[in-house]
Amino acid sequence: MSKRDYYEVLEVTKTVTEIELKKAYRKLAVKYHPDKNPGNKEAEAKFKEAAEAYEVLSNPNKRARYDQFGHAGVGGASGGGFSGGGMNMEDIFSQFGDIFGGAFGGGFSGGFGGGRQRPAHMKGSNLRIRIKLSLEEMMNGAEKVVKVKRMKFATGTTSKTCSTCNGTGHVTRVSNTFLGQMQTSSVCNTCGGIGKVADHIPAGANNQGLIKKEEEVKINIPAGARDGVQFQMRGYGNDAPFGGIAGDLLVVVEESEDDVLKREGDNLHYDLYVSFSDVVLGTEKEVPVVGGRAKIKIDAGTQSGKILRLKGKGLPSLEGYGKGDLFVHINVWTPQHLDKEQKEFFEKMQQDDNFNPSPGKQDKSFFDKVKDMFS
Ligand SMILES: [Zn+2]
Repeated sequence: MSKRDYYEVLEVTKTVTEIELKKAYRKLAVKYHPDKNPGNKEAEAKFKEAAEAYEVLSNPNKRARYDQFGHAGVGGASGGGFSGGGMNMEDIFSQFGDIFGGAFGGGFSGGFGGGRQRPAHMKGSNLRIRIKLSLEEMMNGAEKVVKVKRMKFATGTTSKTCSTCNGTGHVTRVSNTFLGQMQTSSVCNTCGGIGKVADHIPAGANNQGLIKKEEEVKINIPAGARDGVQFQMRGYGNDAPFGGIAGDLLVVVEESEDDVLKREGDNLHYDLYVSFSDVVLGTEKEVPVVGGRAKIKIDAGTQSGKILRLKGKGLPSLEGYGKGDLFVHINVWTPQHLDKEQKEFFEKMQQDDNFNPSPGKQDKSFFDKVKDMFS
C-alpha cells in the first residue's frame, strides 16, 4: 500500500504554520485516540498515521526534506534497509507532552488495549551517528564498520520492584481535562518511571545498572542512499535501564563532496575543458563517471557551452525508478600565450568571415539549455 501524503493526512495545506499544524494534529489525535475507539483497528491506523505525519512536519529539517524528496527523504522508502518510518505507540505518547501540555501525561500509554499501566521507559534510548559516504558508495551501497559507544547492561546488576508505584512507573489520579473526566497519572518520583529500583549495582555501572562500552558495529548501506537519509538499526542503541529492550542506532548519511562530479538530485554534472582545436576538428574525450571513466565524442564544430547528456550515468533514483544522467558541460579553453606563427594565423582568421559568429536557431542560449536539461 502506498503511503498517503502527510499534508493530506493532517488535512492541511503545504503552507500550514506550526501552530495550525499542531491544532490539526490535536484534532485528529483526539478523534482517533485508542481510548475513545477501543478495539477499532482502523482508528488505530489513522491515529498512528497522523502521529507519523506530525512527527515529520513538525520538524523543520524533516519537513524540508519531505517537501523535496517525499516519503523517501524522511526514511519512508520501502525496502532497501531504510526504516519503515512507522512509529510505535510509545513514541506517539511521548509526543503528547508537547501537544497537550501534559494533560495526557503517561496515562494513556498503559491504557492502550486494556487499561493496565506499564512502566514508561522499557526501551533504551536511541543513538545517532553520521556516516560519510562518497558518490560511489551512495550509488553502489557500502559496508561500513563504525565504533559506537553504547550503554550496556552490566552483568551483576540486580533490581527490585519499586514499592512506591508497585512497578507501574506511574502514580495515578483522576482529574478533569478538556476531554472530560480522565484518569491521568504522573511519573513515579522514586523510580523515575522505570518501575524498578537498584538492588545491587556492580562497580563502574550507573544507578540504572548500565555501563558505557565501545563496540564495533557493521552497517550495510543499501545502494541509492542520499545525503540526509536516516536509517535505523534496531537494537543497536543503548540498553534499557535494568536490562530490557535496547534502543536503536540511527544512522544519518552525509555526502562527502566529490572533487570533480557535482551532484544535483539524481543527476551529475562535469565541467570538461577542451582546446579550441578539439571543437574545431572534433575528437574523443574521456570523462569521469562514478567508479570509472566513459568516452564521449566531441563533434567537429561543437560550440562552447554545449551540454552533452550521458543517459543513466547519474545516481539511481531514491524511489527506485531508473537512474539520473551525467551532464558534461563543454568549456573551450582559450590559449593564454601564442607564439609568432600562431598569432599570425589567428590574426588572419580574425579577418576571415568563416570565423564570424552567426548563431542560428539550433544554437540555444544558456537558459534554454538549462531548461532543456530538466524537461
Ligand atoms: Zn516507582
